[in-house]
Amino acid sequence: METNRTLLVDAHAHLDLLGGAEEEIRKAVSMGVLAVIGVSMGGESIGRTMRLREKFPGIVLPALGLHPWQIDKEDIEETLGKMEENLEQAVAIGEIGLDYKIKTKKPLQKELFTKQLHLARERGLPVIVHCRYSHQRALLLVEEADVPRAVYHWYTGPLELIDAIVERGDFISATPALAYSRMHQEAIRSAPLENILLETDCPVAYEGEEATPSTVVRVCEQVASLKGCSAAEVAGQTTENVKRFLGKTWPERSA
Ligand SMILES: [Zn+2]
Repeated sequence: METNRTLLVDAHAHLDLLGGAEEEIRKAVSMGVLAVIGVSMGGESIGRTMRLREKFPGIVLPALGLHPWQIDKEDIEETLGKMEENLEQAVAIGEIGLDYKIKTKKPLQKELFTKQLHLARERGLPVIVHCRYSHQRALLLVEEADVPRAVYHWYTGPLELIDAIVERGDFISATPALAYSRMHQEAIRSAPLENILLETDCPVAYEGEEATPSTVVRVCEQVASLKGCSAAEVAGQTTENVKRFLGKTWPERSA
């Protein structure tokens, strides 16, 4: 019997895009993964994520959102309607945000991001934010919308913004890119452990290797080595952080 194993949460996974997702989720659970926040990007993605939730209740925690990359490909009203219909079962709104590297017009991105932030505030849900080349603007919109809590995922933005993120009680999340990204390493080094979540963004490939939810075990070790503490400490604290991030939507467990 294993004792004292601290359980981890993968706070950002695209389970709907992951090949052999069911098998990978079982494998992750066997390696000490307590839960996986399955983010979605649009209508079809929401449907697939919700089906995985039904198969893995309390383990797959769905987050629903319209991602900036999908704006041109979706029937926006229909997608937002689908989100609202399923929000009762969701733990968060995401992945949403701004991406200033893509061609989609900034005002349209801003409009849809703001709309979803307002929905999050109305429903009392936390948000999972994508903010490529748009950290400052995204932060401002999150503050203005006054959402309960936010995580800026795979944070590589300016270190100066981290104080404001921490001040609001929000989070940044660490990915396997810690193995090679200086900017990401510096951000994770700068933020207090109390404001860090672990994630894989799977099935993203890092240096040619596709991540799965189990990869979060490695992210935990990477954060531990950057912070100069034990992996058990990182696991314990970041799992507490996920509970704080989700608040009322963290699943009650009898065990
Ligand atoms: Zn993502």
